[in-house]
Amino acid sequence: MAEDAAKLASLSTTAAACARCRLAETRTKVVFGMGSAASPLVFVGEGPGAQEDATGLPFVGRSGQLLDTLIEQELGVTRSALYIANIVKCRPPGNRNPLPDEVEACTPYLEGQLEAIAPALVVALGAVAGRFLIGPDLQITSARGKFFETRFGTVMPTFHPSYGLRQGGSAVTAMRADMVTAKLYLMEHGRWK
Ligand code: SF4
Repeated sequence: MAEDAAKLASLSTTAAACARCRLAETRTKVVFGMGSAASPLVFVGEGPGAQEDATGLPFVGRSGQLLDTLIEQELGVTRSALYIANIVKCRPPGNRNPLPDEVEACTPYLEGQLEAIAPALVVALGAVAGRFLIGPDLQITSARGKFFETRFGTVMPTFHPSYGLRQGGSAVTAMRADMVTAKLYLMEHGRWK
């Protein structure tokens, strides 16, 4: 486990100076990811927003608060017990979706994170992350809460917290249900204490 944490720290140091794609020109801080190297579950979003870019931390601000609330209320832990990352580590200008060449340039970091952590489950946050991790035809509304075997391991998509914030009501209820589904999966696989 110390080795896994060291691998993550080393990757993070490399990413902090990364200029492999054009997003390096406009970022403030690289948002590598945060959490426990021993986490059984990794949340993956599409990319940092303005507050993440300013702080260097993933999923802060209002959507991050919703994610924290769901983690605490449905999983019974805080985010520090889990791991949260994005596909691209630098903010796409204007919060546009990351472009294919940016995703390709940044993917080795996510692969390295998943290799070091070896989670039992990856939870894709939103359609962009879901399509990247699972496949381009993914429809988030019908796919959420289901499990897919991928080259990144077992992946379950759910709505993006910002969508949950915008929609409220049934979207947040669905996200709560997906958190419980994830927890049951981890319990069934002996990865939840
Ligand atoms: S988005 Fe990824 S590949 Fe591009 S500069 Fe940032 S860390 Fe490097």
